[in-house]
Formats: sequence, C-alpha cells, structure tokens
Amino acid sequence: MDTASSGEPVVYGYCTWHCGYSADIRVINVDEQGSGPGGVQSACLPCREKYDLIPYSERP
Ligand SMILES: [Zn+2]
Repeated sequence: MDTASSGEPVVYGYCTWHCGYSADIRVINVDEQGSGPGGVQSACLPCREKYDLIPYSERP
C-alpha cells in the first residue's frame, strides 16, 4: 500500500456500486433502520465520480 504520496491512509474495502473490493473506499449511505445486512453502502473513487456520489462524512 502506498500511503506516503498523499499523506492520507488508503482505505481498502467493498464497493457497493461495482460489487468488488477496491482502495479509497468511502461510506456513501448508512441505513439506520438496520433492515438486514449490508446497511452500509460504500463506493470507490471511480464510482463516486461516475455516479456523482457524496461521501457520508462530507455532507452538511
Ligand atoms: Zn466502485
């Protein structure tokens, strides 16, 4: 993992949008209802740009 270039840790996880594992994963939606597994939706950088997704932590 190359974390030295950006200074930020690379978060490796599951992307809900392309259904695969990737680096730089951000949480997009959190389902507070808890209606089963997969209550958290995360997306990688390419999918965030492709689908115009705003990370959960960066919303007002
Ligand atoms: Zn993705």
